[in-house]
Amino acid sequence: MSNTITTINPFNGKDIKTYNLHTKQEIDSVLLTGEKTFKSWKKTSIKERTSLLKKLAKQLEKKREDLSALMTAEMGKPIAQSRAEIDKCVWLCDFYAKNADNFLSDAIIDTEAQESFISYDPIGGVLAVMPWNYPFWQVFRFAVPTLTAGNVGVLKHAANVTGCALAIQDLFTDAGYPQGCFQTIIADHKATESVLESSFMQAVSVTGSEKAGKSIASIAGKNLKKSVLELGGNNACIVWDNADLDTYIPTMVKARFQNTGQSCIAAKRFIVEEGIYDEFLDRFKKEVESLKVGNPEEDETFMASMARKDLAEELKKQVDESVQKGAKVILGNTLNGANYAPTILTNVTEDMPVFKEETFGPVAAITKANNKEHSLELASNSRFGLGAMLFTEDIDAARQAIDKIEDGAFFVNEMVKSDPRLPFGGTKASGYGRELSKEGMLEFVNKKTVYIK
Ligand code: NAP
Repeated sequence: MSNTITTINPFNGKDIKTYNLHTKQEIDSVLLTGEKTFKSWKKTSIKERTSLLKKLAKQLEKKREDLSALMTAEMGKPIAQSRAEIDKCVWLCDFYAKNADNFLSDAIIDTEAQESFISYDPIGGVLAVMPWNYPFWQVFRFAVPTLTAGNVGVLKHAANVTGCALAIQDLFTDAGYPQGCFQTIIADHKATESVLESSFMQAVSVTGSEKAGKSIASIAGKNLKKSVLELGGNNACIVWDNADLDTYIPTMVKARFQNTGQSCIAAKRFIVEEGIYDEFLDRFKKEVESLKVGNPEEDETFMASMARKDLAEELKKQVDESVQKGAKVILGNTLNGANYAPTILTNVTEDMPVFKEETFGPVAAITKANNKEHSLELASNSRFGLGAMLFTEDIDAARQAIDKIEDGAFFVNEMVKSDPRLPFGGTKASGYGRELSKEGMLEFVNKKTVYIK
């Protein structure tokens, strides 16, 4: 077992930097510092905490170019999308700076008592286990509400974005947060598990694969600690025969191919009603062919390499197995290192890996539906439940579909996207709990009932 992590630029295959894993003593010291800091941090006013959020946003703005370049180097995100990710983190800080006071205020409940209300108290240390695909956004959407609620955080980031993980720790320090409010550990899975088991950690937030979620949540469960799980997705993009293709084809293509298809909420299964199928396919393919694929450091690039070579190989395997079962490749399915071409598959049926499993890369799997009812049945035929999108001009019919969608989100004439103002999370194998909005902020608090007779 290696004691180091070397980050690699996936676009050119070159090593970036080697980091030492933290020793047991270093991790113990992180926990001790966090514990000490919590004692004073929990007593700070919301005003103090939101003023730090404004400073955090300023740090992000100041370092926007360097942080974007780091993200692009470590995981291959096209630079324009890296900048957009930093800007979204700024939006998140602004949102909670404006709303935290309201979200965390006591909630008065009328009873026969003189006074009865819910007080939202911090709980202590919260561990975050995070993925590489949105290396800043995923961490910020955990840390900003969690710290502002008075908790302290420890981050174990994905190994391939260790540079980003340390840069995030610096952002909090440079914004003026007390040392110990937000700390990064460079740790393997075993060391991460022991952090969760430590008495100081009260809860864990995991964003990652189903496998990681199961493994970490079982340790949390065994130790009676709360977990929030944001796991994989296999979102359906339903296209009814009355969809406005002129307006929405670019949205559908973006929903699948942005971030080089490596998004939990990406449109993965396109379920298209018979009457519009041929026209959809023709326009969709033309739009995908027009995407600018290339060097992630160039401003105009829309799609680049995947984040790791092994992930690209795994994706190709899912496609090849589906082809053996009868799927047809009408575009792409070529691999060069971590560079996997934008790919479209038709004739996709429910027994194929590209329908049943999450495809975490630039593959659009297209299935024909006989009618609207059938399209909704196909959409629901998934172990995952992160989100679904429907494109139609018949909004009344779309409203009637709301109850039939079992996912955590349903977007009509828009791609599923995260927004600080709206709760985000899944059902079924996509996990449980919510992030963002007031709902997300109240995941890691003690909702204390106070009753004064
Ligand atoms: P991953 O392999 O599950 O890794 C995610 C994080 O978990 C990494 O930091 C990883 O560390 C860590 N990890 C995995 N197993 C662990 C264990 N047993 N103990 C401690 N830490 C463990 O996922 P990924 O490949 O980075 O990300 C892709 C997955 O994340 C996809 O399934 C995607 O859908 C999902 N995702 C979900 C959301 C959402 O909001 N629902 C958002 C983004 C991504 P190492 O890097 O050291 O292995």
